[in-house]
Amino acid sequence: MSHSRPTPAEIESAIRNIPDFPKPGIQFKDITPVLADARLFAGSIDLLISNFKPGMVDTVVGIDARGFIFAAAAALRLQAGFVPVRKKGKLPYQTHEQNYDLEYGTNSIAIHTDAVKPGSRVLLIDDLLATGGTAAAAAALLQKVGAEILEISFLIELSFLTGRDKLKGYPIRSLVVY
Ligand code: AMP
Repeated sequence: MSHSRPTPAEIESAIRNIPDFPKPGIQFKDITPVLADARLFAGSIDLLISNFKPGMVDTVVGIDARGFIFAAAAALRLQAGFVPVRKKGKLPYQTHEQNYDLEYGTNSIAIHTDAVKPGSRVLLIDDLLATGGTAAAAAALLQKVGAEILEISFLIELSFLTGRDKLKGYPIRSLVVY
């Protein structure tokens, strides 16, 4: 087994496409084979944080639920704290909430009001950028608590859904683009 850092193409070849999950017409990008491979998991974290060194980031924020996996590992590498943005109703303490539109209806995500100190340098991570509604709502929560967003990073970007357009003004990084 090679211990060289994997390329984004190698990570892409481990991502499994599941048609019609969780509903007809959606092709689900299953990242569990990336997580299960030690070299691909570590390499995907290295690639996600490659613009940063320990000391440059105070907090890595991960989005419920697969974003937690990448953000927590990135936080350890960067010697930064980890903060979760969760679906509404899951966080036990006082929260800020942000609604965002889905194709039908709305969703809401939340952050603890004291989770990120004003002026903190934050890296925001999720597994996948689709329409951008989730990440834009998370960025709005971080603005509410006064964080400085250094970058928003994704393992996967579905570029045909133009999620980047909802994240104008933020540096965006994605490793595997469809
Ligand atoms: P969006 O708000 O449309 O950018 O959706 C992003 C969120 O939905 C992320 O947290 C993803 O985990 C999840 N998601 C959306 N589309 C997919 C997909 N095709 N495969 C896997 N996860 C997805």
